[in-house]
Amino acid sequence: MLLIEEKYKPVAELLLSSGSCPRCVLRLCCVGSSAPYRLPYKELADELWKFLASDGDISPPSKKVRLEDSDGCRTESQISKNVEDIDVSEAPQTCNLCLGILQHHCSTAFVRKIFHKVQSAGYEFQDFVFPVSLPAQLLVREHSAWLQAQQEMRKNGHLLEKADIIQLKEAYKWIIHPMISEELGVKAVSKSLFEVGVVFCHQDTDEDCHFLATVCKDCFKPAKNKHSVFTRMAVVKALDKITDNDFCIHFPWPPSSPKTTCQVVDIQCNHASVFVAGRYNKYSRTLPQTPWVIDGERKMESSVEELITEQLIAVFKADSFNFSSSGREDVDVRTLGRGRPFAIELVNPHRIQVTEQDMKDLQQKINHCDKIKVRDFQIVSREAVAHMKEGEEVKTKCYSALIWTEKSIEKEDLELLNDMKELKIIQKTPLRVLHRRPLASRSRTIHTMKTEYMDEHHFRLYLKTQAGTYIKEFAHGDFGRTVPNIGSMMKTTADIQELDVESVDVDWPPALED
Ligand code: ZN
Repeated sequence: MLLIEEKYKPVAELLLSSGSCPRCVLRLCCVGSSAPYRLPYKELADELWKFLASDGDISPPSKKVRLEDSDGCRTESQISKNVEDIDVSEAPQTCNLCLGILQHHCSTAFVRKIFHKVQSAGYEFQDFVFPVSLPAQLLVREHSAWLQAQQEMRKNGHLLEKADIIQLKEAYKWIIHPMISEELGVKAVSKSLFEVGVVFCHQDTDEDCHFLATVCKDCFKPAKNKHSVFTRMAVVKALDKITDNDFCIHFPWPPSSPKTTCQVVDIQCNHASVFVAGRYNKYSRTLPQTPWVIDGERKMESSVEELITEQLIAVFKADSFNFSSSGREDVDVRTLGRGRPFAIELVNPHRIQVTEQDMKDLQQKINHCDKIKVRDFQIVSREAVAHMKEGEEVKTKCYSALIWTEKSIEKEDLELLNDMKELKIIQKTPLRVLHRRPLASRSRTIHTMKTEYMDEHHFRLYLKTQAGTYIKEFAHGDFGRTVPNIGSMMKTTADIQELDVESVDVDWPPALED
């Protein structure tokens, strides 16, 4: 029933008498099947005593057990106790190896606590992962037990590799997963978008690890985002390096039996981000793409980003969002045609069962306002969002601009522009964006230009350009920082009065029928 091999008997005997719990005994005795771990605590303890007594040498009623004496000092005493008297199911002494994880934190009460936490958080999910963060000192205690167990095994010519013992996390998973799965009504799996994480700590024994830093200094380097140098990773590294002798001197067997069990610092739920994409038109010349705030002061009342995400956040019940798009337009520039591709990451969404129809309704709601219009609104994968950013530099964009010139426009001026193909220009970072971009010179290509005469001083210019071209600067020259420019080519002063993006030639996201 317990599935402990006979050769591990001395290990079981040693651990049980040193203050380790029955489940940790199974672990150190390399029991690789989950069933014995799931036995009720009392039943498991009884089975263990029976197992130890089975060869007749040891009589179960008499056990050497570690106790706390009345002064709180640990003493080892040979005391007699009937199996029935050791009522481990009631309030077992905290295990010196798992610090109570395999005792108190496997209880139905604890599972119910998790259930309530998950339920009150109000998530939609089909399955879940259950990551557990354990205090690093458990590794030190386990190492200590392994060294001791190894010694015990050697006496009879057996080996015990560290990799053979069952990790605490693994045993805990075997016990707790079926319990939580049953309570939540969905399966605990190894990969899921929904995560219920538990963080344990045990302050009373935090100092267990500290000796490692004096023996293996270079394993413990302060890291910016870690509040302690004693991370699990660092402790694993140090335990790998330290000699058995050094370890036993600094951390003598058996580890102390603490009065308290591990504390649950946090039970945290999180759902992986959902990504939504589409294309937007912007019809206003007073609407920025993202909230425009200067020195804490809001400059424009709304933004494309806000008009789209306000509704989205509400539907998906997300904590926050990240907006990205294929390029951006200035506040006074309209985006026409089929619009500009955008993607929104919805962080920690609580609602995920959103249908195509829901998305259509949402698109319609967003489109009630006259400043923007959204199309091809859909849920996409995280990977697909990368398409939008791919090859942005080589994509083309089409614009239409209203140009003013100081001199009267001649027919030849416009023909000159119409005839130009693949015009190379050099643009220094425009003055208007110098405060947020480094000063640099870059080459861009104006693929084609087409003109339309309006009056003596105005014409419309249709351009097809390489993405990332500064169109306004190409028109007025930016004090000679863009060469050539419309003004220099027409030998006059030119300015741009209106600009519209006519198309952003990125073939993503897939078009949907309206
Ligand atoms: Zn234990």
